[in-house]
Amino acid sequence: MLLSADFQFSQAALQAFMDCPRRFYWRYVRRVRWPAPQAQPLVEHEERLQRGWLFHRLVQQHVLGVPEELLARAVQADELLARWWENYLSAHPAQVAGQRYPELVLSASLADWRVMAKYDLVVVTPEKRWLIFDWKTAQRRTSRRKLLARLQTRVYRYLLARAGACLAGGVTPPPAQLEMVYWFANHPADPEHFPYDATQFAADEEYLSNLIMEVCAGQDAADFPLTTQERHCRYCSYRSLCDRGKEAGDVDEMDEVPLAESLDDFDLDLEQIAEIEF
Ligand code: SF4
Repeated sequence: MLLSADFQFSQAALQAFMDCPRRFYWRYVRRVRWPAPQAQPLVEHEERLQRGWLFHRLVQQHVLGVPEELLARAVQADELLARWWENYLSAHPAQVAGQRYPELVLSASLADWRVMAKYDLVVVTPEKRWLIFDWKTAQRRTSRRKLLARLQTRVYRYLLARAGACLAGGVTPPPAQLEMVYWFANHPADPEHFPYDATQFAADEEYLSNLIMEVCAGQDAADFPLTTQERHCRYCSYRSLCDRGKEAGDVDEMDEVPLAESLDDFDLDLEQIAEIEF
């Protein structure tokens, strides 16, 4: 077994394996961090990392009750961040009555491993609807088809149905009362909604279990082959290790920016990488 016994599968880890088994190997087995820039120009890419991180923190503070006037000062110096913030305040994407859980982390066991997720916001309404909100700050709006295919949409809904009982007095969320909403800071009037149901829940459980078992069957690097779809290499930090080119992809072509803050948050924050447009 290559993974430590306390390894937890995030959607980012599973997505990495789906996109390229070798990327999973570098990142989660060997824990190689940033051997090359993900995108260029580098300075602009780093600005976007920072801005995306700030936006998520602003919304978190707002949900926690920090006054808007106070938060408005934090966006004054950055035109794009100010625009996102205005869009957020105008659209009120999560304006629904209920108990709010910003930056919620949930985990559950699956196939003898732990699966975990960090949610931007979960709201449990008085009617016992369970709403997952996820903020996206990319220039481009990711299509519904691509969002549906991402591990994030599967893992977040499945895990809330599995582990959400801790939020509402021990009542397990029925899948049919659960919904995921992606809200796009650059496309505020066009969110994407993904309802859930028991059939999809059962399908997700089988799919994710099989995927985890496939990952864990790997015994050495050879069991984690380089992807044959080289478009995945364009924004991948491991290009030099894989001899898949030196030039990073253009930052303007990215659909989302990662939010890495520390190595401990590595798995969680790299979830945003899943939004890169391929
Ligand atoms: S550079 Fe390409 S082959 Fe190498 S880890 Fe990244 S996506 Fe996989």
